[in-house]
Amino acid sequence: MLNRLTISQLTAQLATRKASALEAVRSCFDRIGEVDARVHAFLSLDEPDAIRQAKQADGLLDAGKTHAEMPLLGVPVAIKDVISVRGQPLTCASRILGNYRSPYDATVIERLRAAGAIVFGRTNLDEFAMGSSTENSAFGPTFNPWDLSRTPGGSSGGSAAAVVSDFCSAALGSDTGGSIRQPAALVGCVGFKPSYGLVSRSGLVAFASSLDQIGPLTKDVRDAAMMLNAISGWDQRDSTSIPKSLPDYTACLSGEVKGIRLGIPKEYAIGGLDVEVDGAVKAALKHLERLGAEIVEISLPHTEYSVATYYIVATAEASANLARFDGVRYGLRIDGDDPLELYSKTRGAGFGAEVKRRIILGTYVLSSGYYDAYYLRAQKVRTLIRQDFLKAFEKVDAIVTPTTPGPAFKIGEKIEDPLQMYLSDIFTISCNLAGICGMSIPCGFTANPKLPIGLQFLGRPFGEETLLRVAHAFEQTTPWHKERPVL
Ligand code: GLN
Repeated sequence: MLNRLTISQLTAQLATRKASALEAVRSCFDRIGEVDARVHAFLSLDEPDAIRQAKQADGLLDAGKTHAEMPLLGVPVAIKDVISVRGQPLTCASRILGNYRSPYDATVIERLRAAGAIVFGRTNLDEFAMGSSTENSAFGPTFNPWDLSRTPGGSSGGSAAAVVSDFCSAALGSDTGGSIRQPAALVGCVGFKPSYGLVSRSGLVAFASSLDQIGPLTKDVRDAAMMLNAISGWDQRDSTSIPKSLPDYTACLSGEVKGIRLGIPKEYAIGGLDVEVDGAVKAALKHLERLGAEIVEISLPHTEYSVATYYIVATAEASANLARFDGVRYGLRIDGDDPLELYSKTRGAGFGAEVKRRIILGTYVLSSGYYDAYYLRAQKVRTLIRQDFLKAFEKVDAIVTPTTPGPAFKIGEKIEDPLQMYLSDIFTISCNLAGICGMSIPCGFTANPKLPIGLQFLGRPFGEETLLRVAHAFEQTTPWHKERPVL
């Protein structure tokens, strides 16, 4: 059952040689073989490559390498299929990439390998990370391990489902408007969206470059801190990564929250919030108060514009970023009589409906005559949204909200109504627009059916330590993170 352990538990066993990395990898693959036919968390798996890496890790452990030197030595980590892993398929859950394989490792993959992790498996997602349910995958949806008729959220639905199904010790996802935090909430694991610029995007297939960040999905808060230690930091290959010295993110996990000021945005008391989600979040706030935190009402006055702003900025950037998939350089090609016909046939056949919708929206808001009315105005509103947060952080150390307005929804429930789907991102989207950090942790369950509920913490730019400290204190005094779905 090594696959069930947290990173800190597993590394403790590996360090004393009570268990081997090979056994850890085998336990993951056994579990995947048993239940992934029903969950569909993975798009591809390369077992021989994982075993090769495990043997290498065991060799290093035998030679006396310690976890002080390589903190993730022997830890199996699954990777969202939008991050390049050398020699492995890279599909972005799209048909347009065909049989493309990554020629190099993303910076985060290099860093995971340097820390000793076993990088394996390509997890399912909404095509090019556009969506909130993993239903937009060209290769079929991922199913929520708590209730297979429901979505695991998205777009990092495969990574989230893999973590709670114990297919891996931890996983990487990407978050442009909530794609790490929302699936983490809907399956009941920890999801961390780092501040913009903390983690290199080099080797991440770009969706909306000014919003995208890579981050971990883990079984507990300490593991999120360990993963952050491994992947964060300045990178020459990403001009938006920030040069700054970084702390050891596990050092702040003191269990101490006395005097911490937590802001509750009054604009987040929206109609349509599920009563059980509301109840669990209110109980969580009471609990944080008992632990010594101070709860303060705050205002984020531009909240109501965040979804609209996001769907202008994100689609504009997506329309530019996805122009490269034209049938000439990568993957799928459908020939035509001239280049234009080749492009349009390839893109027509290769992209799914949601990706096309985003490209059309993005092209529209950038087109001459509409640029000022939409894109330029959205950029100005984006600044106001960021200022709301910076002002709030003068008064509070972190902000607490539900991660999602409701628990996991049924497959098929929202897919025909894109606006409904977009609106369900209301609590996660502003974090990316503002460039701040955010995380989701489990804070309870609905009664019938039993579905996880997520609590979101938002923090100052580069304020990851405060979030980790508060989330850890909450987690260590509540039972929610220990629950696992019965599959
Ligand atoms: N659900 C949002 C969208 O569809 C966010 C996706 C993401 O964070 N990648 O764009």
